[in-house]
Amino acid sequence: MRGANRYGIWEHASPVVLAAESKKSPAAAAVEPPSPPSPHPSDVSSAWALRSGGRPLFIFAHQDDETVLAGIIARIVGDDRCGTFVWWTNGDGLAPLTGESPRAYAKIRMAEAAEAMRRLGAQPHRKRDLDSSEIENYRRLTHVAAGGQLRQAALHYFMVEAERVERAIREADPDRVFLLAWQGGHPEHDLTHLMTVRAVQKLRQETGRPIPIIQCPAYEYVILCALRFNPWFDGDRRRIELSLEERQKKRAVFDAYPSQQDLFRRFEQVVKVVAKFSALRGHPVDVESYLAVEEFGVVDPELDYTRSTHRVEALNYINDDFEGIKIRFDTMIRPVAEILLFP
Ligand SMILES: [Zn+2]
Repeated sequence: MRGANRYGIWEHASPVVLAAESKKSPAAAAVEPPSPPSPHPSDVSSAWALRSGGRPLFIFAHQDDETVLAGIIARIVGDDRCGTFVWWTNGDGLAPLTGESPRAYAKIRMAEAAEAMRRLGAQPHRKRDLDSSEIENYRRLTHVAAGGQLRQAALHYFMVEAERVERAIREADPDRVFLLAWQGGHPEHDLTHLMTVRAVQKLRQETGRPIPIIQCPAYEYVILCALRFNPWFDGDRRRIELSLEERQKKRAVFDAYPSQQDLFRRFEQVVKVVAKFSALRGHPVDVESYLAVEEFGVVDPELDYTRSTHRVEALNYINDDFEGIKIRFDTMIRPVAEILLFP
């Protein structure tokens, strides 16, 4: 998660429904679930996706994105049993607001992520920072929209980034990939998603393995639809309830990010508003119980990434800009999607 966004007025509240798998007995969990025959949501069981084993890859844009699925990570990784973690950016995007140099701020962010991983059970040897500058990524997005030679250079830039991501994914040789949802909330979440889909599509073709992609919703509509798919999301949607230990680890991960405490506090405020509306509807939920449920879903391999998840362009990346230029799907993200997926 990242962003200096202000609140909008969106409210999203849904009753906490516990996934059936969270009620399975420990004995059932001990049996290795069968591998999926394809990456399609109907073929991928939650038991297989969330098992503690295999070669799961967790790939993120930002240091702190992993808080979205911290419980899922803790469940899968256990005590450093498995998992590779890749971060595309170095988190320098908010440096101008802090007075730190981008390089110094990035070092803080990357060190925080290493500590967060440790608190989730994963040791540093599992971590890989691709160290891409957010500031440069944003500048290049505005160049995509600008057209001409700037656009050509920027599209080349994103292809090179995609190739770096591809190399990291090939090294991880994953059997499944976890990432943040394609949802028009943050441009770098969507770019990370795109670059990952590109690499996984290649790996599927080369190996014949399904390599399902599992997405978790971070936020959209500024941050007022937080940590849940929006109510009209029509893709695969599942939920788990975290155990007490998983909740404690998740809380510890939030605390591993001193640089992001303002943002987390605002998230907490949002969740409190959601909780209030939820209580009015007869489904009382407090912050702790909201965070104790994590949503995820298997990404449809046929998803069309040249289309935004929002019908109205203005609902993409609300309030996000680079030096006053608004970040847009139509003129910035779509051209990158087209060049990455249909070169
Ligand atoms: Zn993020």
